[in-house]
Amino acid sequence: MKKTLKQRAEAAMPGGVNSPVRAFRSVGGDPIFAKSANGAVLKTEDGRKLIDFCMSFGPLILGHAHPEVVKAIAETAAKGASFAVTTPREIELAELIRSAIPSMERIRLVSSGTEAVMTALRLARGFTRRSKILKFGGCYHGHADSMLVQAGSGVAGIASASSAGVPDSFAKETLVAKYNDAEAVTRLVKRHGKNLAAIIVEPIAANMGLVLPMPDFLQHLREQADACGALLIFDEVITGFRLTFGGYQKLCGVTPDLTCLGKVIGGGMPIGAVGGRIAIMESLAPLGPVYQAGTLSGNPVSVAAGLATLKRLKKDQPYAALARTTELFAKSLFGMAATLELPLQIPYYGSLFSFFFCEQDIRSFEDVQRCDTRCFAVLFKQLLRDGVYIPPSPFEVSFMSTAHDDRILRKAATAFEWALTAVAEQI
Ligand SMILES: *Cc1c(COP(=O)(O)O)cnc(C)c1O
Repeated sequence: MKKTLKQRAEAAMPGGVNSPVRAFRSVGGDPIFAKSANGAVLKTEDGRKLIDFCMSFGPLILGHAHPEVVKAIAETAAKGASFAVTTPREIELAELIRSAIPSMERIRLVSSGTEAVMTALRLARGFTRRSKILKFGGCYHGHADSMLVQAGSGVAGIASASSAGVPDSFAKETLVAKYNDAEAVTRLVKRHGKNLAAIIVEPIAANMGLVLPMPDFLQHLREQADACGALLIFDEVITGFRLTFGGYQKLCGVTPDLTCLGKVIGGGMPIGAVGGRIAIMESLAPLGPVYQAGTLSGNPVSVAAGLATLKRLKKDQPYAALARTTELFAKSLFGMAATLELPLQIPYYGSLFSFFFCEQDIRSFEDVQRCDTRCFAVLFKQLLRDGVYIPPSPFEVSFMSTAHDDRILRKAATAFEWALTAVAEQI
C-alpha cells in the first residue's frame, strides 16, 4: 500500500515536522500538508481550500504569494541566491527599517527571530558585562537556551529549564516575572539589579494568545531598566511592521535599547534583525568584542522579499483598515459566542486576534492557563472541517492580512458560526 504523507513525514522527521506546533498536538487530529497558497487561501495536498488565519504565523501581512513579493524573490534568485558579501539591498533594508524605527540606529540582519534574540541577549550581556536576563512568563522569544525557561519555585524569580537539554546552570541566569506584574519587576530589580543585563519583553504578548500590556507596564520596565543599568529589549518579531509602519514602540511611546525583528520584514522568507543604540551595536564583531556571524545573514532573496513587503506597506499604509477589519470580524464572532452563551473572549489589536475560552480578565500566562483548551480544540477541528485554518494551538494568535476581503470574511464567519455552535453543543 502506498504510504501517506503523514507516514512518510513521521518516518523521515521527528514527529513528521520541522517545528513542533505543526504536528497539531495541542488540538489533535491529522496535521495538514500545504500544496500552495494565494491571498488568504491555503490549498492542501488532499485538495482542500482553507481560509487561512495562521498566515505562516505572521510574516504574510500582504497575503500568500503577493505578486510583488513573488517577483522580487524570482528576479533576485535568478541573479544568485547568496554571495556572502554585502549587497546594496541589505543597506536599503537597514535604512528603511531605521527610518521607521529610529531607535534601531544600527542594524544587523540575521536569519530568524530566534537568532535576533540570541544576538540581542549576547549583546546586552557583553555591553553591560552582566549575566542575568529578566523575561516574562508566556512571552516567547524563540528557542535560545536562556529563553527556554519557566518560573521556578520560590520568590527569587530564578528560572528552571522548560526544555530538556538546557542545563540548570544556564536557566538560572534567567529570571521570570509575571507579564503585567510591575511590582514583581521592581522586586526582582531590587534583588538582582546589579547583575541584570537586560529585561526582554514582547511589548504586546502574542505567543500566549493575545495579551495587551497594562497602561504604564512598558514605561515601568523602561524606568526599572534605567534604575539598575540594564538594557530594555523589545522583541517585536511579531509586532514589528504589523501594527504600524514601524514598531509597537512608536505606538506606546516607550523606547527600548535594543529591538528584535523577524517575520514581516522577510515577507515569508527566513530573516531576523537586531538593532539599537550605536554604542551598543558597535560592541558587535567586527567593531567590538561580542561575536556574531552568519553565512546566510542578509540573504539577498530574503532581503528582496522583505523590501518588497515593506515598500508596499509604506505606500499603502493598510494598518487602519486592517485594524477596522479585525475589530469588526472579532466583534461579529464574539456576538455569535454571546448568543450561544459561550464563555469566549476574543481580544484583538491591529491585525491580531485570539480565542480565550474563559470569563475572567486575561493579563498574564497564569490567567491564560485557566482557559478551556478542549473548547479551543473543538473549535479548531470544526473550523478545519468547514474550510477555515486558525493556528493549531490556543497559545498562538490569528493573523488578518490585506488579502482577507469581505467575501472571504463572510465565508469564514459562516464557518465560525457552525463551529461555535458545535463547541456550545459539546460543553
Ligand atoms: C516567532 C517569534 C520569535 C522567533 O522567530 P523565529 O523566526 O521563529 O526564530 C521570537 N520572538 C517572537 C515574539 C516571535 O513571535
